[in-house]
Amino acid sequence: MTNLDELRKLEAFADDEEFLKALREVKTANKARLAAYIKRTLDIDVDIDSLFDVQVKRLHEYKRQLLLVLYIIIIYQRMLKNPMMEYQSRTFIFAAKAAPVYAMAKNIIRLIHAVAQKIAETPQVCDRLKIVFLPDYCVSLAEVIIPAADLSEQISLAGMEASGTGCRKLMLNGALTIGTLDGANVEMAQEVGDDNIFIFGMTAKEVEERRSSYSPWDIYHTDQEIRNAIDAIRNNTFCPQEPSAFQSIVQSLLDFGDHYMLLADLKSYMATQDRVNALYKDEMEWTRKSLLNIARSGKFSSDRTIREYADQIWKISPIIPE
Ligand SMILES: *Cc1c(COP(=O)(O)O)cnc(C)c1O
Repeated sequence: MTNLDELRKLEAFADDEEFLKALREVKTANKARLAAYIKRTLDIDVDIDSLFDVQVKRLHEYKRQLLLVLYIIIIYQRMLKNPMMEYQSRTFIFAAKAAPVYAMAKNIIRLIHAVAQKIAETPQVCDRLKIVFLPDYCVSLAEVIIPAADLSEQISLAGMEASGTGCRKLMLNGALTIGTLDGANVEMAQEVGDDNIFIFGMTAKEVEERRSSYSPWDIYHTDQEIRNAIDAIRNNTFCPQEPSAFQSIVQSLLDFGDHYMLLADLKSYMATQDRVNALYKDEMEWTRKSLLNIARSGKFSSDRTIREYADQIWKISPIIPE
């Protein structure tokens, strides 16, 4: 417990089927515990055999919870169009908090709830898609959610996240990451290897180069799926009782120039989510990568960080108590 790098020794079990089976059972038990919590607090039934897709963090536009919502809407629309379409069933688990005055964040939270309700009411999709938004995100809740995650969403616009800590908590608990090359994701990719993490989207440099000429309208006009998703938000599909409830979201994506460049990364994000689904079908291979994520997360110990500060910046040495 005082030397997290020891986790590396788990790599020796990466091809041990018995071990991987046991690891999978731990994850399943953690998913069952979260499912019970969801049932208790929200009275929603979730399928623990579905992929638990988790985005838990402060609600902020740069963290792009809305990017995941757009993806869910696109899948929802594909399923409506083609009810027989194959799709790995998923439970999307959100938790987030935002300052009371952060109106856009509140509006995004409301949209997540509205899409969740619409999906729950639609028989063709509700057996394969489910959205759960857990209230009151805090450390105690994180302790129940994070060990139950299959997939960790770390999808901020490259160049925006200084570091992030949630990403490592999820890695340490065996979630696979889908993320941009932003914040600590960069170091995580280096540690775990490109084959064991789902990286998508623009780099910080590409964001910078593209920004001056970027127009979300170009994407809106050329990509029909993306257009349909935004139009569904605009046309009150998700909030018929209050027209224009989500007008500010549509405006920020189009009229105000999509500052966090969601539409620019959406196609790459969708293609990468397809790869996630394909891998999840292969239980052993998924669990092997999960194990490698755990085994290679030792670097992200806070003990290691503090030791480095002590050595390199503060130039102090530990006092060993007698
Ligand atoms: C880890 C944590 C955060 C920070 O999450 P990020 O993904 O790094 O933004 C915020 N709130 C709680 C309760 C946490 O446990």
